[in-house]
Amino acid sequence: MTEHAKEEARVQRSFRETGRMPAGTLYLVGTPIGNLEDMTYRAIHILKEATWIAAEDTRQTRKLLTHFDIPGKLVSYHEHNKQKSGEALLDKLLAGDSVALVSDAGLPAISDPGADLAAAAIERGVPVVPVPGPNAALAALIASGLPTDAFTFVGFLPREKKKAMAELDKWRRQTSTLLFYEAPHRVEATLRLMAEAWGDRRCTLARELTKRYEEFTRGTLSSCLAHVQAHGTMGEYVLVVEGASEGEIAADEGTPWWTELSPAEHVAGYEMREGLSRKEALKRAAADRQVPKRELYNAIHQEHGE
Ligand code: SAM
Repeated sequence: MTEHAKEEARVQRSFRETGRMPAGTLYLVGTPIGNLEDMTYRAIHILKEATWIAAEDTRQTRKLLTHFDIPGKLVSYHEHNKQKSGEALLDKLLAGDSVALVSDAGLPAISDPGADLAAAAIERGVPVVPVPGPNAALAALIASGLPTDAFTFVGFLPREKKKAMAELDKWRRQTSTLLFYEAPHRVEATLRLMAEAWGDRRCTLARELTKRYEEFTRGTLSSCLAHVQAHGTMGEYVLVVEGASEGEIAADEGTPWWTELSPAEHVAGYEMREGLSRKEALKRAAADRQVPKRELYNAIHQEHGE
């Protein structure tokens, strides 16, 4: 049982006060991911009415507010001040102010700050109300051509290769469609890593969604990789990748991941997947192959022609 198991479920009736804005509410407001026409009437209304607008980048948000003629009192809330600013915002909420939280683009709390503030507000009994709007991952998914009945949002992979590989490994048997955010200069390396971790699967690259240069590249991990190698990468990307097939899972169950690897790749695989030291990786690989460590060590040196 978790520590929450004995707590009673708590009910929030967001609009009990006949549509008037209840005081002391935290609104999580979606904003455009490129095309300003995606701003909703409700987002404009809430931003106009809120006592405070908490924004990831106040200068960026000021431009949005100016465009829609929203006066708004801005306060900054971002990854690096979220502790302190979050406490100050909670004080305002508990004093009865309403706060509209926006991120630079899309939905706050999705690969953006906001989830902590929402959780802390809920913890203290402050109503938390979503004001839905654009989201890059879901926009990419629905136009990807890949199954939408079940999907897993992973967001950004860790930057370090070993950690990224460990994360990909975690999702290897996931059958639902997988959604990733990626910076343009890392798309190529990430596609290569995915192909290495999972083999070739269907993949859609969604670039610059809702903007002038919106582009979908639909193919496989290897054909998308070839495309970005030939044409380069620019702008913002979502990577949508097919989940594991039943066949892949069955094959995966029967054979350990290192079966087709050389001794050196096997050891490197442990270093990368589990972050093991070379010594520890060698020990594990030797145990897998049921050979003495010295023998494996020699095989690796032979492999390298030493
Ligand atoms: N909260 C946002 C949302 O709801 O989509 C995501 C914020 S996250 C910090 C930014 C990442 O989202 C970008 O690096 C990119 O991967 C993806 N993204 C945002 N806007 C996009 C767009 N217009 N086209 C493609 N990807 C986009």
